[in-house]
Amino acid sequence: HREVLPHSVDGRSIIQWFWNYVRGSGGHKGRSWRWKEMLRFPHISECRELAKTIERDYYDLCVYQPIGKKLFHLYCLTRPDLHNYMLLLDALETFETKTDEERKSFGFYIIQTFIRSQSNQCVPSLAKHEQSCINSLELDPCEDVFHKCKEFLHEYLSQEPFTQYQFSMHFDRFLQWKHLERRPITKHNFREYRLLGKGGFGEVWASQVRATGMMYACKKLEKTHVKKWQGEHMALNEKELLEEVDSRFVVNLAYAYETKHSLCMVLTMMSGGDLRFHIHNMGKPGLAMDRVCFYAAEVCCGLIHLHQKSIVYRDLKPENILLDDNGHIRISDLGLAVKLEDGDLVHGRVGTLYYMAPEVISKEKYNMSPDWWGLGCLIYEMIAGKSPFRDKGERPKSSEMEKRIKSTTVEYNEKFSNDAVDICSALLNRDPKHRLGCQGSGGKEVKSHPFFRQINFRMLEAGLVEPSFKPDPRLVYCDDVQDIEEFCALRGVVLNQSDGEFYAKFNTGSVPRSWQNELIDTGCFEELNVFGPMGSRPPDLDW
Ligand code: ADP
Ligand code: MG
Ligand code: MG
Repeated sequence: HREVLPHSVDGRSIIQWFWNYVRGSGGHKGRSWRWKEMLRFPHISECRELAKTIERDYYDLCVYQPIGKKLFHLYCLTRPDLHNYMLLLDALETFETKTDEERKSFGFYIIQTFIRSQSNQCVPSLAKHEQSCINSLELDPCEDVFHKCKEFLHEYLSQEPFTQYQFSMHFDRFLQWKHLERRPITKHNFREYRLLGKGGFGEVWASQVRATGMMYACKKLEKTHVKKWQGEHMALNEKELLEEVDSRFVVNLAYAYETKHSLCMVLTMMSGGDLRFHIHNMGKPGLAMDRVCFYAAEVCCGLIHLHQKSIVYRDLKPENILLDDNGHIRISDLGLAVKLEDGDLVHGRVGTLYYMAPEVISKEKYNMSPDWWGLGCLIYEMIAGKSPFRDKGERPKSSEMEKRIKSTTVEYNEKFSNDAVDICSALLNRDPKHRLGCQGSGGKEVKSHPFFRQINFRMLEAGLVEPSFKPDPRLVYCDDVQDIEEFCALRGVVLNQSDGEFYAKFNTGSVPRSWQNELIDTGCFEELNVFGPMGSRPPDLDW
């Protein structure tokens, strides 16, 4: 962690860093000076095809997609009869960002303002829920107090308002955004900065979207390497799983595209280094207990999200847990993850031997159990500064490792609290049937373990807990990048037609939810989403 940024990068990156610096201070926030041109709306007549094919699903178009949600909201605000519905919807969202202490008083404010029939802002038909909301709020403000109200609101909005919305200029504007979102993606959409790391099939580069200034990590897979090692299935699997996940504790995919030589996955930028580095290269090995507990809780939430989507991760280890610049972590590298079809078990000896669960080593069938074993190994390593079955720096033969994992008793030194010993030994139970996390309630039993007593999972999942450690933005938390040798195309590997078909499957461009969030988070949406004077139809929306 010694290096200060500009010195640790190669010549090319310094120039680009400088350019960014100059441009960034030019008032464009890292965007290209041509950014408005890059994001110019197509005329609405160019969106006819799109209008025909887009599925008219209320939830998807008006709740799930971030830009869709904003435009539906703007439409509703043009109708006085929907005003209070929208204010209530906003208030319910704000309610979710309140701390435990604030929830009660804010909850009562919502009831008084929008639910009680005497209020002049009350939303019709909600009064019947008043008493149950009050009771629920009194009993436990952290419960989903307004569940019924939300259901009612969306049910109402999905009828006539949703139908009318589809005839409005706001929906036409949504189509224009979708048109922009679906344009093909190439390397010209990005500016490349420094090398972040190296993977099995290629390098990972810091990469910036020219149009919006958003920074990402671009994971490149060299086509010739993929072909030589038959990594096609793995690459596509990783890309498709990433597309499906949507959690603040798992790296998100924003774009998938191809260049002449590589396949690229554009991922959430995690610039704080990986946990291996933080455990082993920042002074005395191991982390303070509050950090261990915090990271373990966030990983636990990430695993639960994956498991809810029937995905077993299978590669939990410190290297694969990355920190962002605020100090939150995300699970990354879904190359070995697999989606289980309903109730299925898999087998397959995959993962990194040091962290492999006994049932994986023995080639037994399993479902989610290896991930809970992996969490046990991770918590152990964060506390002890070494993995449970191997001393620091030791490289035992694989037969020796297997033997240890299947039979050695794990030892806990004085750094372990009683709760820590307890959770590690429950997760490192060799029999998956008796392992913590595998008792039928999924992650619930893990979350409620006394080890996590200090963690408020509701607030953690809402992103409301501040990490105690924040990476220093001037430091690069990885081994010197100059030590990473360069990747180049392999000679003698010829790419043909059938490779092309696989590339086409991979090259799907923007991931809708990530793309829309990027436009909103960088302020581009706000700046571009303007209408005519007095809210009239602008020329680009004139059919
Ligand atoms: P592989 O699947 O080939 O092992 P990884 O996904 O582990 O590739 O990426 C290789 C390295 O690139 C990681 O060890 C890390 O240093 C860096 N890296 C990967 N993803 C990101 C990211 N989202 N942000 C920052 N660095 C990353
Ligand atoms: Mg990796
Ligand atoms: Mg991988």
